[in-house]
Amino acid sequence: MSSVQIRDVRKSFGNFEVLHGVSIPIEDGQFVVLVGPSGCGKSTLLRMLAGLENVTSGTISIGDRVVNNVQPKERDIAMVFQNYALYPHMTVAENMGFSLKLRNAGSDEIGKRVKRAAEILALTPLLDRYPRQLSGGQRQRVAMGRAIVRDPQVFLFDEPLSNLDAKLRVAMRTEIKELHQRLKTTTVYVTHDQIEAMTMADKIVVMHDGIVEQMGTPLELYDRPENQFVAGFIGSPA
Ligand code: ADP
Ligand code: MG
Repeated sequence: MSSVQIRDVRKSFGNFEVLHGVSIPIEDGQFVVLVGPSGCGKSTLLRMLAGLENVTSGTISIGDRVVNNVQPKERDIAMVFQNYALYPHMTVAENMGFSLKLRNAGSDEIGKRVKRAAEILALTPLLDRYPRQLSGGQRQRVAMGRAIVRDPQVFLFDEPLSNLDAKLRVAMRTEIKELHQRLKTTTVYVTHDQIEAMTMADKIVVMHDGIVEQMGTPLELYDRPENQFVAGFIGSPA
């Protein structure tokens, strides 16, 4: 079963086409990393998966449902952004429960889900703190907590680590991978960092100027890059 299907998707802003027919099959439970230089269309593709941008042509399905015309709130997806702004006036617990509240969950249900997410992310002792009282890594975990409380079918990450220092970035990579191993939620993870891609992905999709250059396991891309762009990108230092 393929849980996310991107079929021949094009996207234009006015007369400017930024994605030129992208097809990516994603299997249930897979950790897929979209990698490519800045401006190649990674965020645009992710935003279309989330329903934050319209698809110009082609289809996106989640499970067996075409979601092109489905509102973000109705998609069973949770997204972690690069600039994960936490609500400053809410505690960690309130930050994590807020999206459930927006979806009219009852307070018992919210409490239960927040508690479970906090256990998974080692946030239990911090639930009553405010964002300003947290370290960068803790804030990042709260941002992930906001996503996992919803227990979505798909996680989307858009360069979630790019604002962190190098040491924390490596630690958070491991945390995100462990989270995936535990929850097995289908994940689409965007980065421009090829080391991050190589170490985290089940499948890497190399993008360049609005097309997919190649996709495969990290080993396949490393062993058999299909063209100069992929070889150069995968082989270059961080
Ligand atoms: P990436 O995430 O790979 O860096 P983006 O998806 O953000 O790339 O952007 C791809 C291209 O689309 C860029 O040329 C960018 O300037 C353009 N773009 C993105 N969003 C918009 C928008 N809302 N309006 C016009 N152009 C946009
Ligand atoms: Mg981007």
